[in-house]
Amino acid sequence: MLKKILTVFLLVMFICCGCGKKKGTVESDLNKIVKKGVLTVGVRADAYPFGYKDEKGKYLGYDPAIARLIARGILGDEKKVKFVTVTASDRMMKLYSGDVDIVIATMSVTPKRRQILDFSDPYYIAGQALLVKKGSRVRSLQDLDKKRAIIVFGSTSENSLRKAMPTIGIVGYKTYEEAYRALKKGKAEAIVSDDTILLGMALKDPTVELLPKRYTREPYAVAFRKGKESKDLIRAVNFIIETENKNGNLKKIRENYSIK
Ligand code: GLU
Repeated sequence: MLKKILTVFLLVMFICCGCGKKKGTVESDLNKIVKKGVLTVGVRADAYPFGYKDEKGKYLGYDPAIARLIARGILGDEKKVKFVTVTASDRMMKLYSGDVDIVIATMSVTPKRRQILDFSDPYYIAGQALLVKKGSRVRSLQDLDKKRAIIVFGSTSENSLRKAMPTIGIVGYKTYEEAYRALKKGKAEAIVSDDTILLGMALKDPTVELLPKRYTREPYAVAFRKGKESKDLIRAVNFIIETENKNGNLKKIRENYSIK
């Protein structure tokens, strides 16, 4: 049924927008993906339970699951997706270099990012929080004053921390795995990041603690290159997200990964 709806939707869209490249027009990214028969998606390998790999190298988590639903919606087969690992700091570059068609990588929509990227409708709302070692005296952001905090380069917490709390010493890493190891080694008092990713660490390790306060609102969305070429693709992705949300599939996936 869903396949049928999507096929009809895509057909209508192709007719309305003109499938194929006309003289003097730019070929849409959606059309390119349909022609190539595979959707290439930038996802995280360091952000359990949103994006990680199992021992066999299979990409798992909420973000790859959404990517598979999008591939099914656009190409009729959830296997027609190729994953490329991105980090917080290289995800935009990999989008613009053409390494990936879209990015689904715990990426928050911000006004600054909107200047250079296009985004789908949000598919999840996270919030920045602190992860500390159990028993730590740090209970809030203010307690980090003149102490050190760990961030991942290119994340929204790097930006918000540098701006809001310039008196905190910042220790930066490329991935959340490195950030976690640094906290364990005592390189800083806390990791500042999204509650989603920090909870993933706390669930696996009872010696660390996710503090209850949330400092920001982080709407996660699929990211696209900014421009006319992305328009049809964004429409298709929004349609798929809305449909999968309404039919309960997104909720099921979240439950599967213990995501609230
Ligand atoms: N959601 C935040 C961001 O987009 C932090 C998580 C991440 O590092 O991806 O920067």
